[in-house]
Amino acid sequence: MAVTNLKLNNGQQIPQIGLGTWLIKDESECKKAIKVALEAGYRHFDTAQYYANEQFVGVAIKESNIKRQDIFITTKISIDNFLPSRVIPSFEKSLEKLQTDYVDLLLLHFPVTKLRHTAWKKLEEIHRSGRAKSIGVSNYTIRHLKKLLNECEVKPAVNQVEIHVFLQQPKLLDYCKQNDIVVEAYSPLVHGRSMNNETLMAIAKKHNKSTAQIMLRWCVEQDLVVLPKSSNPGRIKENIQIFDFRLDDIDRTTLAQLDDNYHSSWDPTYVP
Ligand code: NAP
Repeated sequence: MAVTNLKLNNGQQIPQIGLGTWLIKDESECKKAIKVALEAGYRHFDTAQYYANEQFVGVAIKESNIKRQDIFITTKISIDNFLPSRVIPSFEKSLEKLQTDYVDLLLLHFPVTKLRHTAWKKLEEIHRSGRAKSIGVSNYTIRHLKKLLNECEVKPAVNQVEIHVFLQQPKLLDYCKQNDIVVEAYSPLVHGRSMNNETLMAIAKKHNKSTAQIMLRWCVEQDLVVLPKSSNPGRIKENIQIFDFRLDDIDRTTLAQLDDNYHSSWDPTYVP
């Protein structure tokens, strides 16, 4: 079944699954992963300045000969480039590496104290120039979003945060929904560490799916964009086979009980 799209607050469509590329640092690994992903039906790729692989993502997409407008590319401004003098020049380097004249989505990678306010102004400038169709943030809590919404001219279209069945973040999801901000789930597979969880395995068995597919389907049913990373051809294909089944009420109730607020990577809760 086809991948569904969500609509951003500016009308732009975003495919509900994207291939995460963090830790894919090798050119041949990256090119192969993107080739397999495109063949499997992915049309959305999530990279970042920090991942040091924008140039490989760019080559792989170019070599696919798929029209640029049919692919959704996200990149992120690295923490080192938040100074007002650096945001736009660093973004221009990203465009060069990605071999494109625009990105579909440009994010601030982290709510860097103080600098994030001027960095957002620069993102607005980039957006107005047409070189980022949408702009958004990553790792923002409700507190960070409230401040941004009070002072921005362009509302963030997206907030990319860690979300999975062990970190469900219901308050943040509600807040984003109320403010028309799409939430993207990063590390939706908890880095592959929870595949033997018995509750997940039981639900997977019932649906004849894998544990990973249950974790990803849960995200899709929360109206999230989900960004699993894999560079393994079999797992890349497996991870997109999540649009042909539904969780039922019992699954949802069971999965709700797995939430234990487990942050597997950086936790922005106390960032001023
Ligand atoms: P993840 O997607 O939760 O997990 C990736 C790990 O799970 C890899 O080791 C992968 O190994 C394994 N895996 C993938 N599919 C699997 C499957 N079907 N069965 C078993 N294992 C599987 O972790 P992530 O990379 O942290 O997050 C995903 C993406 O979110 C990143 O790549 C990045 O694009 C984004 N992200 C953003 C931020 C941010 O601050 N904005 C932070 C973290 C991540 P193989 O490759 O060997 O399959």
